Amino acid sequence: MPIDATAPYDDQNIFAKILRDEIPSKKVYENEFALAFHDINPQAPIHILVIPKGRYVSWDDFTTTADDAEIAGFIRAVGHVAREQGLPAPGYRLLANIGGHGHQEVPHLHIHIFGGRQMREMIPRS
Ligand code: AMP
Repeated sequence: MPIDATAPYDDQNIFAKILRDEIPSKKVYENEFALAFHDINPQAPIHILVIPKGRYVSWDDFTTTADDAEIAGFIRAVGHVAREQGLPAPGYRLLANIGGHGHQEVPHLHIHIFGGRQMREMIPRS
């Protein structure tokens, strides 16, 4: 079920539990501001999620309330992970789902990194 991206942060969401090491994840990178791990249900040969360590429901929440160091640390982590995975040369896709229309399911900001195959057009034309 898509979440309400304007709701208060829920400390029991699954990515909060991953950050607290209460449930396992396949980590690929961590810095002061971000954690990256493999998606449990990969949609591409490489499908990694990058999440901020702070309590941010969505991209909207993050870009409204995070400080500049958190934003820089998080965005740089996304680029770093993609480079570590060898993705810039073949190309890759970043995606952030936000709220209901965006079909966001986990109420902790995450950027999807997809790579390792040719992507199809972004949104199918009707
Ligand atoms: P979204 O629809 O953007 O909120 O995507 C949520 C993503 O989280 C989906 O791609 C799920 O497969 C992924 N996911 C859910 N639970 C876990 C988990 N425990 N570990 C890794 N990825 C997860």
